[in-house]
Amino acid sequence: MIYDLVITNIGQLLLPDQGPLKGGAMKQLAVEKQRALGIKDGRFAWIGSHEEGASLPAREKVDAEGKVVSPGLVDPHTHLVFGGSREGEMVLKQAGVPYLDILKQGGGILSTVKSTREETEAELFDKAKKHVRQMAAHGVTTLEAKSGYGLDRETEWKQLKVVKHLNEQGDIDIVSTFLGPHAIPLEYKGKSDAFLEEMIAMLPEIKKQNLAVFTDIFCETGVFTIEQSKHFMEASHQLGFQTKIHADEIDSLGGTELAAGLGAVSADHLVAASKQGIKQLAEGETTAVLLPGTTFYLGKDTYADARSMIDQGAAVALATDFNPGSCVTHNLQMIMSLAALKMKMTPEEIWNAVTVNASHAIGQKAGRIVKGKPADFVLWDVPNYQYIPYHYAANHAKMVWKNGRKVYERMDADVF
Ligand SMILES: [Zn+2]
Repeated sequence: MIYDLVITNIGQLLLPDQGPLKGGAMKQLAVEKQRALGIKDGRFAWIGSHEEGASLPAREKVDAEGKVVSPGLVDPHTHLVFGGSREGEMVLKQAGVPYLDILKQGGGILSTVKSTREETEAELFDKAKKHVRQMAAHGVTTLEAKSGYGLDRETEWKQLKVVKHLNEQGDIDIVSTFLGPHAIPLEYKGKSDAFLEEMIAMLPEIKKQNLAVFTDIFCETGVFTIEQSKHFMEASHQLGFQTKIHADEIDSLGGTELAAGLGAVSADHLVAASKQGIKQLAEGETTAVLLPGTTFYLGKDTYADARSMIDQGAAVALATDFNPGSCVTHNLQMIMSLAALKMKMTPEEIWNAVTVNASHAIGQKAGRIVKGKPADFVLWDVPNYQYIPYHYAANHAKMVWKNGRKVYERMDADVF
């Protein structure tokens, strides 16, 4: 057999175990030295020693030069599709203008809603495509994308269609989530129940047209209550959706307990998760998706208690939360650094959190290097896997492959 591609001279090959990895299992990460990979028809076809790999017949060979190869990263929480941008708010925030005042001036999430309603599907598509390319350039080969900047039927629909077309037309797998109940639009001020019913009424058609796998709701003081979130999640389950929830980000309302109790696929944020909530995560099937980039970007000091979650036995995943207001980055590697620096996660836990656990949090079978599975992987320009969380905010990806096709290669200018 002639392989399509053989990667030789891999210094460290990272082989996360099948997820979800809970608690102590997150500390285990198989790392094999001096390995090689053979790819055929978009899949991993052979895994073995560097010496054997060097003699395999192949159409293309890549010398990894003793560096690190990992599975493609999975980003399980992004708000990918949105109109406009909000860089103007940065100086207002610096001046100490409260978020609610920014909101009253037409800024904040409602300005993104306005822009997203105004922009055409084609405009939103082109912007989102650029973001996906940037994420892929940072090593992400599978990601989740939420709607939630329309807050009306027409625009939520437009966002979901953009995600569908991005998934169909591009190389990166994009898993769609309907987040209609993300905020309460101006026209429904004081009428959140009526707005929620409007969003619930969209669910059958979304299901019929297969426009989303998951539903999600923003459960927080001043947005949706625990009772409203429960109602929405139960309505989603009845129609065959799996559920996610933005839970306990600011106030400890009990969204974590709700998610674990209802068997949601993930509970996200969890900065203010209670002890009871963490216990229930450890006992249940719900993955904790932590977003330290958001805590950092909002300038807060208290991060989600990843240590308690893992030490008590929960499955933890990490995501960027890429969005135009509270975390503006494509770089999941930066999030890996924040997880190490601010949440005291070990390098092994971090790698499992951005591969197999992230994949599990969006119902995918990605995040592993296994014979016969799609060849999604990254060659990192680093001497060992611990180096990526250590050297923060850089892009260490040298080459990125999705289904055996190279989707990114770093161009180094020949300046020296
Ligand atoms: Zn979010």
